[in-house]
Amino acid sequence: MARRKQIYEGKAKILFEGPEPGTIIQYFKDDATAFNNQKHAILEGKGVLNNRISEFVMTGLERIGVPTHFIKRLNMREQLVRHVEIVPLEVVVRNVAAGSLSKRLGLEDGTALPRSIIEFYYKDDKLGDPLVAEEHITAFSWANPQEIDDMMALALRINDFLSGLFAGVGIKLVDFKVEFGRQYDGDLMRLIVADEISPDSCRLWDMETGDIMDKDRFRKDLGNVTDAYREVAKRLGVLRENGGAGQKGPVLVSDNE
Ligand code: UDP
Repeated sequence: MARRKQIYEGKAKILFEGPEPGTIIQYFKDDATAFNNQKHAILEGKGVLNNRISEFVMTGLERIGVPTHFIKRLNMREQLVRHVEIVPLEVVVRNVAAGSLSKRLGLEDGTALPRSIIEFYYKDDKLGDPLVAEEHITAFSWANPQEIDDMMALALRINDFLSGLFAGVGIKLVDFKVEFGRQYDGDLMRLIVADEISPDSCRLWDMETGDIMDKDRFRKDLGNVTDAYREVAKRLGVLRENGGAGQKGPVLVSDNE
């Protein structure tokens, strides 16, 4: 079998050329990184869980009319997605103070914000993804004012959808990060949600116990990281009770289901 062409290898995913023009295959690795790559570990089963959770979220977004790059899941670790030109920004939406916002503004973690706040970070690992203002984004042509408006409107719709989805299963959506890509169709261009939406890119707290169910378990050395991701998947109904993604015990030789 011909070896697929690798397009890019990131911290948690590998991108391969897709079967048709305009498509790529997104492979979810078990690697976890934090603090700009200074901390690294392999968390067995994480990639499988994120593949399933991201599929579930992206499919739900499509259903409410938010366009995404997701086409279909191919197997336990891979999904077919639309090839896009990635906007070099991380768009963060926050409902509750945590992480870098708490630090920057001296807020206590868990403080409810007066309204949802949207922030932009410039995607550059060498610089540690710095926070940027709309001024920087337009001056350096990372995105134009119309695109900024579109990304903000989409980010708020995603926040509403995700907040409700997680609240329904007893989880508080503290904050999350999304990335957008430009999809060209002749002269037309539209922005669609790209990358992944998973516990790697969201802060999720159990509504009753306050337990952390996201990547902060890894950042803060709290342990049981994949167990928490599995619990998120289970509550969303993404996992069958016996087996399915992230199961323990013997695994099939083939990654194909
Ligand atoms: N986030 C992410 N990738 C990044 C930086 C942040 O997915 O490179 C997510 C993070 O998981 C959290 C939200 O964006 O849900 C806000 O992160 P924050 O700015 O507080 O930074 P952190 O504390 O994660 O460094």
